[in-house]
Amino acid sequence: MKTTIVGFPRIGRNRELKFLIERYFKKEISLEELNTGTRELRIDHLKIQAKYIDMVNVGDFSLYDGMLDTSLMLGVIPARHRNLNLNKEDLYFAIAKGYQDGDIDVKASAMKKWFNTNYHYITPEIDDETEIKLSDDKIFNEFLEAKSENITAKVILQGPFTFLKLAKYTGQKSASDFIASIADAYIQIIKKLSDIGCEWIQLDEPYLVTDLQKRDIMLFRRIYDQILTNKATTKILLQTYFGDIRDIYQDIIKMKFDGLGLDFVEGNTLRLIREYGVPQDMKLFVGIINGKNIWRCDYLKTLSKLHYIYEKIVGNLVLTTSCSLLHVPYSKTLETHIPDYELERLAFAEEKLLEINDLRNILCDYDASQILHENATIIDKYKNSGSMEVMLRVDSIKDSDYIRTPNRAKRRTIQNESLKLPLLPTTTIGSFPQTKDVRINRANYKAGKITKEEYDNNIKGYIKNCIELQEKLGIDVLVHGEFERNDMVEFFGENLNGFLFTKFGWVQSYGTRCVKPPIISADISREKPITVEMSKYAQSLTDKPVKGMLTGPITILNWSFPREGISLRAIALQLALAVRDEVLDLEKNGIKIIQIDEAALREKLPIRKSDWESKYLSWAIPAFRLTHSGVKPETQIHTHMCYSEFDDIIKPIDKMDADVITFEASRSSLEILKSLKRAKFITQVGPGVYDIHSARVPSVEEIVSVIKNILLVMPKEKVWINPDCGLKTRGIKETNESLANLVEAALEVRSQL
Ligand code: GLN
Ligand code: ZN
Repeated sequence: MKTTIVGFPRIGRNRELKFLIERYFKKEISLEELNTGTRELRIDHLKIQAKYIDMVNVGDFSLYDGMLDTSLMLGVIPARHRNLNLNKEDLYFAIAKGYQDGDIDVKASAMKKWFNTNYHYITPEIDDETEIKLSDDKIFNEFLEAKSENITAKVILQGPFTFLKLAKYTGQKSASDFIASIADAYIQIIKKLSDIGCEWIQLDEPYLVTDLQKRDIMLFRRIYDQILTNKATTKILLQTYFGDIRDIYQDIIKMKFDGLGLDFVEGNTLRLIREYGVPQDMKLFVGIINGKNIWRCDYLKTLSKLHYIYEKIVGNLVLTTSCSLLHVPYSKTLETHIPDYELERLAFAEEKLLEINDLRNILCDYDASQILHENATIIDKYKNSGSMEVMLRVDSIKDSDYIRTPNRAKRRTIQNESLKLPLLPTTTIGSFPQTKDVRINRANYKAGKITKEEYDNNIKGYIKNCIELQEKLGIDVLVHGEFERNDMVEFFGENLNGFLFTKFGWVQSYGTRCVKPPIISADISREKPITVEMSKYAQSLTDKPVKGMLTGPITILNWSFPREGISLRAIALQLALAVRDEVLDLEKNGIKIIQIDEAALREKLPIRKSDWESKYLSWAIPAFRLTHSGVKPETQIHTHMCYSEFDDIIKPIDKMDADVITFEASRSSLEILKSLKRAKFITQVGPGVYDIHSARVPSVEEIVSVIKNILLVMPKEKVWINPDCGLKTRGIKETNESLANLVEAALEVRSQL
């Protein structure tokens, strides 16, 4: 029995890749130094894999993104980048990040979320002039590089089907026009790899786990029938992940793949195998070590799952991860500050390599009992470690707790009377620029250079300025500015029981950007109010309403590593109860408007649409409602979302039963507004009237025209005027100017109504 993984993190143990590339961007190092640095990293990654697994990989390394590598490999360059006179690497970065030089200003390709992960890929752009053909030798060089280290690596490539399905087509042509050329390119790549001694090629086709149409299956078959009939002696592994491949499994087992990689963690692959069997002449790559979580594997539980497969196809099986380890941090050995009893439950990428090796040893019966015993001892320690109190509280939630009364229309009348807001009220999303002072204050406090009291006093100073500024600008509903928060999830995690924070648990989100998700490690509860003091202080400075500002349960959950052995629904409800307590405390302390951000609600929508309701929305939306159903009718509840793709989840969003929702619309406005209208959306809306993601100051006329467009489709009583997201990353100057224009524009349109 052999072992492998689907892919290894490329960022490096200490985020070396990020720093190398950023230094290259700043021209602090040369291209040669960049290449030497990345070569060292790749060799490191080969060596660490070789320590634990049999089939070591190349091809999973990338300077920015694997999909972009594939585009270049296939000669797929966006039309606007084709005539830039750049070397290979700079062209590559120009597609990833855009390119400016004098008069030249070329936009980057769009970035999209990679299935249900927090990784983002660069969308390939195909037009009618695009000619798909082998155009780059990165993959051959990396194979040879490994060979010079005496490693015959398995080569990982993005598969042609997923590539064509995720590409954006800007002309008349579509995926089916490229079947012959993409198959030819892969045949050539396989041939070349075969010539230089490659034994296994892994073609990643995660698109196979989505809801497939007949024509998708046809597309897949037509590409691969060509590849498989013309392939050289090198073996082809069809690798799938992020779920099961129920729509195409029966087709695939009839095809001539040498290996089939399946995910035994997400989805129900076991059912497919039980029902349709596994072809005897295909090696099964069993993705059994979870590539997405950070928890130590429970060997006994895992082995019982493997048992069935093992009996059936012993001898023809390779153990692997459920997906690439790209989605977990590099190694837990860096976390010296986490206590041992917590650390021993964790497994990051490096530890997962070891676990695969352990599982093989157990299955093949080398020293098995000792390994099993040690594992079981640790796993057992954390079973039943929940808090009785939290459990009882979740159990005692009643159906009526999910429903706010009176209904929205009645609340509206009551709120109109108590808040007395003008038509088209103006507001912001919450954060104001995090200036150097704000960051120094936080750093000083963390380093123990100032006391908690000094820290809080400084924060109050920023709040005071922020309130004064907003009053001067004439904004109607104010915010305190969020100067006490580094990050909207981390801040709440740090103030709740049940969270664990790593120091180096970085995961690549896109390119050089990494995130460090908190870990939910125990039952969640709130000991004392978190935001009340600062909100109350802000409100004391003004007669206008100041919004209380909270992060919602689903966003906290979706941007953390969840605990296991308990359902996501249960975690969401625990979080919701904690947020609910905070909401009620804010209300008790005189806060009249409370915003509960659900920036990430969309992010964990299941890959298959048929699962959206039953596996996600059916508990996520009620969890949100639980946070605010206890408030008085006069308290106004807002929520905010960081995107504008509403059409397909518009009803569930309305069912969150907030009074007001603000969202991103500045880049795609009218379409969303129409769909809000079509859906008879009840919630009042604040579609962002300008884009905060750039430093550009929108003019009054521009904002006036956006507002007028909004009013073409939305009744004036329902519209709020606000930027499209928080202002945290913006500078002071452009923020003040933009907001001044926003208020002026609102006043102008208001006077005409
Ligand atoms: N209230 C948060 C802020 O303004 C919302 C951030 C977000 O939507 N990502 O910063
Ligand atoms: Zn936002």
